[in-house]
Amino acid sequence: MYSKGLFWFRRDLRLEDNAALYSTCKNCAELSFVFVFDENILNKLINKNDKRLTFIWQSICCLKTELEKKGASLYLLYGDPVIEIPKLAKNLKAECVFANRDYEKYALERDEKVQAHLNENEINFLSQKDQIIFELPEVLKPDRKPYIVFTPYKKAWLKNLLTRSEFYLTAYPSQDYLNKKQFTPKLASINQLQSLEQIGFQENKNLILQGGFLSAEKTFEQFIEQRIFSYKETRDFLEPNSTSNLSVHLRFGNISIRKCFRTAWNLMLSHKLIIKENIETWLSELIWREFYSSILQAFSGIEKQEFKTEYQNLPWKKDEKLLQAWINGQTGYPIIDAAMRQLKATGQMPNRLRMIVASFLCKDLLLDWRFGQAHFANYLLDFDLASNNGGWQWAASTGVDAVPYFRIFNPTLQSEKFDPKAKYIKTYIPELNNIEAKDIHNMTFLIPDYPAPIVNHKEAKQKAIEFFKMHLKPNASEIRLA
Ligand SMILES: Cc1cc2nc3c(=O)[nH]c(=O)nc-3n(C[C@H](O)[C@H](O)[C@H](O)COP(=O)(O)OP(=O)(O)OC[C@H]3O[C@@H](n4cnc5c(N)ncnc54)[C@H](O)[C@@H]3O)c2cc1C
Repeated sequence: MYSKGLFWFRRDLRLEDNAALYSTCKNCAELSFVFVFDENILNKLINKNDKRLTFIWQSICCLKTELEKKGASLYLLYGDPVIEIPKLAKNLKAECVFANRDYEKYALERDEKVQAHLNENEINFLSQKDQIIFELPEVLKPDRKPYIVFTPYKKAWLKNLLTRSEFYLTAYPSQDYLNKKQFTPKLASINQLQSLEQIGFQENKNLILQGGFLSAEKTFEQFIEQRIFSYKETRDFLEPNSTSNLSVHLRFGNISIRKCFRTAWNLMLSHKLIIKENIETWLSELIWREFYSSILQAFSGIEKQEFKTEYQNLPWKKDEKLLQAWINGQTGYPIIDAAMRQLKATGQMPNRLRMIVASFLCKDLLLDWRFGQAHFANYLLDFDLASNNGGWQWAASTGVDAVPYFRIFNPTLQSEKFDPKAKYIKTYIPELNNIEAKDIHNMTFLIPDYPAPIVNHKEAKQKAIEFFKMHLKPNASEIRLA
């Protein structure tokens, strides 16, 4: 038992069912809490209006308010965590720092350095699994290698869960535990952040999704009470709220993955046939999230390089004009342009459209998937390295269990099928408001404010197939291990 402990919030911005927070309560007589705005990450953000900062700020404010109601306070710091965390722990005379694990390369290296600094001062550092249900070593093939195909991964994942589902899905009662704890009095000498402006960012007033764990709970409740029952049938349609909208909350840990999975799992067990199938489909998406996380844990180089060696060093086109047309929603393909404009305006884009625009970039335009990955990383509210890389390498046919290179989305058919009345398209391309839906899908309209198509899809598809056929390295080994 430690007399004083410090809990470090990172991608787990909630009090309820928080694994490491529970351990802090269990192992320390007195607690303190901290969140650090990491200058190493923030210095790389060019857009000072970045919506994610507002989302994080709202989430932190929610945490702070709820902690204050319990008589605790949250230190809000700005700087390099490698310096700030050991300094604060020392000032507080904490004997141990607790945090939930993060699997990205930068985070792993940062944590190693933080731990080393803490240990120099005889302070312990304990990290715990929280962001996912199973870490890589818990779901391996019988030969102890990682799964690289989703279906067998999912089978093994579920088998694992069923061995001890109570244990894996039970909530950590961290919130209740906090009510019984003592908190270290706040040190007035610590320089604290008061606003985003103080660190050079502005609060974005146009955020559609509200940050904070209370908002996450509401979003989840609305989904689980209604929309999950038709998820399989409606998820690809470009109507607002056809999916859960939870990815950003899961990204920042405003909601617990155990809670999401457990609630939907129990609901599934109590239903039959079609309803059951709808819930199962949603659970499968959560397992995709775990699959991509396990891939990132196993192959840390995939952010920069194609997973399949035969697809490495393809001579992607270098055409800044095409890239800018794609980025700015000026390709002349309304479905692509609407999606890209939505991304810039809101930080959001439905999954179906992420697949369509990614296919268009890599196949119709033959531009390097890494440009797309980077653009999404700059703008997506829910940006997560593992899922984003997984999605991009899937679409480019270069990744684990990816779409075959000859499968290329047809924007016209996708648009007709998933936005039949062109309602979604017109929301983001108001220039097309007076054009009939069928003309929008077929692109049989001509208006001065809207560009002509930058490529002909039929010809581009043929060229893409030839490109891959010609440049794939047939003798390369199937996969590259990092
Ligand atoms: C090119 C591309 C890039 C992507 N980048 C990201 C990203 O940076 N961050 C991110 O969270 N998702 C990413 N995805 C996956 C997916 O598009 C989003 O998770 C989904 O659109 C989020 O909406 P939702 O929360 O309503 O999802 P729902 O459909 O309600 O699904 C529930 C949850 O399952 C997870 N999930 C769903 N689909 C996937 C998937 N294909 N891969 C991994 N997890 C999934 C998410 O956590 C999601 O919140 C990407 C997909 C593609 C094709």
